[in-house]
Amino acid sequence: MTRSTPKKGSTPIDRRQFVKAGGGLLALSAIPTFSHATDNRLPARKLGQTGPIVEGFPPAELVGRPRPQGLELGMPPEERIGFAIVGLGSYATGYIIPNLSGTKNAKLTALVSGNEEKRNAVASTYAIADEHLYDYETFDAIAEDPDVDVVYIITPNVFHRNLVERAFAAGKHVLCEKPMAITAEDCQAMIDAGNRAGKKLMIGYRAQFDPYNLKAIELIRDGRIGTPSTLVADHGHLLPLDVPKNQWRAKQEVAGGGSLYDIGIYNINGARYLLNEEPYAVRAKYHEGSGRPEVTVEEEIEWQMFFPSGVIANCSSSYLTTNNKRIHVQGDKGELTLDPATNYYIRSLKITDRSQENHHIEEIQIPNPNQFVPMLEEMAAAVLEDREPKTPGAEGLQDVRIMEAIYRAAESGEEVTIS
Ligand code: NAD
Repeated sequence: MTRSTPKKGSTPIDRRQFVKAGGGLLALSAIPTFSHATDNRLPARKLGQTGPIVEGFPPAELVGRPRPQGLELGMPPEERIGFAIVGLGSYATGYIIPNLSGTKNAKLTALVSGNEEKRNAVASTYAIADEHLYDYETFDAIAEDPDVDVVYIITPNVFHRNLVERAFAAGKHVLCEKPMAITAEDCQAMIDAGNRAGKKLMIGYRAQFDPYNLKAIELIRDGRIGTPSTLVADHGHLLPLDVPKNQWRAKQEVAGGGSLYDIGIYNINGARYLLNEEPYAVRAKYHEGSGRPEVTVEEEIEWQMFFPSGVIANCSSSYLTTNNKRIHVQGDKGELTLDPATNYYIRSLKITDRSQENHHIEEIQIPNPNQFVPMLEEMAAAVLEDREPKTPGAEGLQDVRIMEAIYRAAESGEEVTIS
């Protein structure tokens, strides 16, 4: 760090004067340009010894200083939007509930779970009173809970539609996890229910709130890779069946689909927001599975999406490869890689300019790239401002329509047009 130039009119103070003026270790440590580690002329300092060093410097006893600039406190608790979390599984308890307390406009006010012991444990950790605890039988009574504005559905996929419809019937706004539902027909019914209730419906597409993905969108829009021509996107993770959250994922009747519905959806949604256009047709092929009898979903599938601009997206999703979350876009000037693109806390973005003789590679660094907090804040803001959220039901419906077309294409071996 460099020494700052004294402002015009102010009295410059050099290091010797500073020390003479009684600058203590406390004050000294606040000025990074002075290295007291190499200075053996510092006077010994007695506890409680104070004295103004430079105007604005605090004395060495405990005092209240002004509020730091640029740090928002957020809304007072009583004005925040209250969230009920439905389904207290790994995603809800590991990522969503902890991040709710980091928001400026939302708060956790109720819990819905079929497991009393787990519900009580989460409730006592987050100080949620008994009158705000529900199971799946008593869930509809949430209508009478004035502390709940938004119901966030984080259960296995097959239950999304029913719970969303019940939440709307209870007069609440809804945030629902991806995939929105099993079929496009279900998705449409959920959108219709929201419209009838006059309530907001948002799908939890966290990557659309991720600073790295947002930066990638901006770079592509700014023409940094030229005109995109191909996109390659792969998502994979293993599916060990001794892990409870994988057991329902392995079952067609609960998950509605396999790796495609679970993580392949990130390729589809990512291609759509990075390219800013909708695919008109798909081709697809199933890969051979592991042969485990408990697994009734497809484990690995590969597909192509065709876009009106001419871009072709080559994608795969897999339960047979480990931790792959990559999206790569190539244009006539350069290319951009998000790898990982959709990890919870670690992302990386690299852009290569190939128009220069020596290819210029830039690694983008974004400090503290939280995606959960802005996603939760968007839902609360949509309610507070009475507007449509950024990732509404239509966004979830479109991905399910494309995934249904991908399955039809894999089964028929034909190119399928997205209706
Ligand atoms: P999970 O198995 O850890 O949690 C599911 C919860 O639903 C559990 O608390 C379970 O008790 C409850 N449940 C109720 N009835 C059930 C039943 N019949 N079978 C199984 N569980 C039942 O799963 P998860 O990983 O938290 O996923 C939940 C939802 O969140 C899914 O829709 C998933 O796609 C979505 N999700 C989204 C992200 C994301 O990054 N956006 C990440 C993980 C999961």
